Order: sequence, then structure tokens, then C-alpha cells
Amino acid sequence: MGSAAAAALAARGAEVIGLERFDPVHDRGSSHGDSRIFRKAYFEHPDYVPLLDLAYDAWARLEAAVGAPLLTRCGALMIGRPDSEVVAGTLASVERWGLDHELLDTAAMTARFPQFRLRADDVAVFEADAGFVRPEVVVRAQLDRAGALGADLRFGVLASGWEQRGDGVEVVADGDTIVADHLVITAGAWAGRALAASGFPLQPARAVMYRFAPDDPAAFAPARFPAFVYDISRRDALYGVGDLGAVDATGRVVAATKVGFHHRLTPVDPDTMERQVSDGEVAAMREVLAEHLPGLAGTCVTATTCLYTMTPDEHFVIGALPGAGGAVSVGAGFSGHGFKFTPIVGEILADLALAGATAAPIGLFDPRRFAV
Ligand SMILES: Cc1cc2nc3c(=O)[nH]c(=O)nc-3n(C[C@H](O)[C@H](O)[C@H](O)COP(=O)(O)OP(=O)(O)OC[C@H]3O[C@@H](n4cnc5c(N)ncnc54)[C@H](O)[C@@H]3O)c2cc1C
Repeated sequence: MGSAAAAALAARGAEVIGLERFDPVHDRGSSHGDSRIFRKAYFEHPDYVPLLDLAYDAWARLEAAVGAPLLTRCGALMIGRPDSEVVAGTLASVERWGLDHELLDTAAMTARFPQFRLRADDVAVFEADAGFVRPEVVVRAQLDRAGALGADLRFGVLASGWEQRGDGVEVVADGDTIVADHLVITAGAWAGRALAASGFPLQPARAVMYRFAPDDPAAFAPARFPAFVYDISRRDALYGVGDLGAVDATGRVVAATKVGFHHRLTPVDPDTMERQVSDGEVAAMREVLAEHLPGLAGTCVTATTCLYTMTPDEHFVIGALPGAGGAVSVGAGFSGHGFKFTPIVGEILADLALAGATAAPIGLFDPRRFAV
């Protein structure tokens, strides 16, 4: 979100300083791990759909600006019982906005996507205009674009504090004080710390990404295996993306399909989080795969951690920081589903920083719902 905001602000001619405590594209936050699902039939809430329309346009603009495709449209399946959050929520968005989709029952799923083993009463909603993006490629592209447009991007620099001063802000970073007209805070899992005075309930949580070796790599290639979210029981969803390969313990690139649990999260401090994944965690995933995706239930190639930043209602926090005189904007609390919005969030943060308002529909993300 920070690289997107820096690129959007630099594109509008603003003088931008970007501060990042780690390397340019690192694996210690929330934006690593090869793939992120994008989809428009949004089970989380129908109000995201108009923003997703804008996000799809913003992705197209970013693709044009970098001269390369960023979205892989392999389609996505939302699977579960008809009354599950994933299926019922997806259909609510489909109906509210008239979105293109196909509803598949177990027999249709078995014929078309035999990789999945569904329960008799499961259904699936297939959305063709969905798929995945490569987060590292996107962050790199946005940083390059911001840099090429004149942004001063500083890496290995920890912002340790900020204060509103007059019409602007002062930010302390590695002992220096930076004076600016506006501060945009996109600190991911560390946002709660940067915004401690505001009292926002932002909870960093540990999530695990597993790569399992498919028994038949061709059947799990993205061309035949859509991205998916499978509601296996209440508040327990399995998700995955087709084979993009992974580096195994011997350093070889092997076939590997990514899977994870969307709700199996552990609240953590991002600085002291356990980054090792236990054998028990791998075994729990293998057990679920054996039941629903038996072709993946063999070798776990790698298992790595990632961070979600949860809000109580799991909606984002995007807007002017209350009580900061309009000098600070926030993009935080993406609750494990923010990446597909990246370029539009950057543009919205640029609107807020330069004009104090945005035409984009962000009412659901109003920071004032949490501010103390
Ligand atoms: C396992 C996993 C799967 C996901 N799957 C999906 C998906 O399929 N689809 C989807 O849309 N979303 C998905 N998400 C969510 C999405 O990836 C995140 O919402 C998004 O990446 C958050 O971006 P961010 O910029 O807020 O955080 P980050 O990318 O972590 O960026 C925050 C940056 O701020 C820096 N920083 C923090 N504090 C300071 C400081 N004081 N000084 C300097 N720098 C600082 C950090 O080092 C970090 O680089 C997933 C997330 C995970 C972890």
C-alpha cells in the first residue's frame, strides 16, 4: 500500500519521501509469497464491489504504466454449503450487482474440476474474471514507478515517531526529523504501533502459507486449476492458487501449489512472531487436503509465515486520521484481503493527501468507527 501511495503521489507531481524499515521487497510483512487472489463477487460485503470496479481499472492503468500484464485471469471458485459465508456472501454480491458467474453443483464440479472432492451438499460459484496477482512483482513495479517519477525512497529506515505540527507533520526517522505537509501511514502489521495514540483496534496475526507438491502437476496448473476459497466449516476456510512452483529444501524449483487457512490465525507481535512452521501445522493442513484436494496431500515443499492485520469487523481502515487536522491519512487493517485493492488504495491515499477527500466509495472503511 505504501509503494502504491508513493507511486500515485509522485505521478501527481507531489514531492514524496518513502520510508521502509526493511529492504525494498521483503518477506517480513504482508505482501510476499508469490500470489494473491483477486475476485469481484466479494463474499465479505457487497459494498466492496464498486471499489473493486475501480480497482480493476487501476490495475489496468498500472499494467499500462509498467508495460506488462500483472493479473492472471485463471478464474476463481468460491466453494461451500449454500448457506456458508463464502457461498451465500458471494451470491449476495452477484445478485446485488448482476455479476457474471456460474453456479456449479457437486456433479458439475466433479466433471469440470475433479481435483476437488466436495461434500454432497456443497456448491461452487465460478467467476471467470478473477485470478491472482504476483505481490512481489507488483510492489517492485510500484517502487520502480515511484522512483522513476522522482520519489525519494529510503530503505532500512525505521520511522520511530511523528507529531502534528501546525498545518503539517514532523516524522522522526533514524534520528532525522522530516518536516512534511502530509503523512500517509501504511505500516501494515506495525500500523497499530504507529497509530497507538488513536486507539485503533488493529491486531497483527500470524498466518501460514503452505506449498504442497501436486501428484499431477498439469492438473494443478493455473490454466486448469482456478484460485479458490473453500468454506469447510463456519469461520474455517481453505484457499489456494494453482501451481507456481517453489524452491525446495535442496534448492531445486519443483511443482508446488499454494494453500492456506484464511481464519486459522494466531495474534502476535510482528517483531517476535514465530516464523518457523511446526510439523503439527503441516499435518493439520495435510489432513484437510486429504479430504478435499487429495492430489495435494503428499509432500509439503515449504511452509512460511505471513501477517494479517485484523480489525474487529474485518473491514479496512482508510481515511483521514481523526484529530490530526487533516495532516495524516491512514491505510491499514486490511484483515487478510487487501492486496487486490493495492493500486486503488494508493490512488485514494493520494486523493486524501493532496485534496483532503476522495470520490472513491470508502464509507465502509471510515477510521472514525474505531477512533477513541
Ligand atoms: C498469507 C496471506 C495471504 C493473503 N492472501 C490474500 C489474497 O489472496 N488476496 C488479497 O487481496 N489479499 C490477501 N492477503 C492480504 C494482503 O496481502 C494484505 O492486505 C496486504 O499485503 C497488506 O499490505 P500493507 O501495505 O498494509 O502491509 P505490508 O506489505 O506489510 O507493508 C507495510 C510496510 O510498512 C513497513 N513499516 C512498518 N512500520 C514501519 C516503520 N515504523 N518505519 C518504516 N517502515 C515501516 C513494513 O516493513 C512493511 O514493509 C493475504 C495476506 C497474507 C499474509
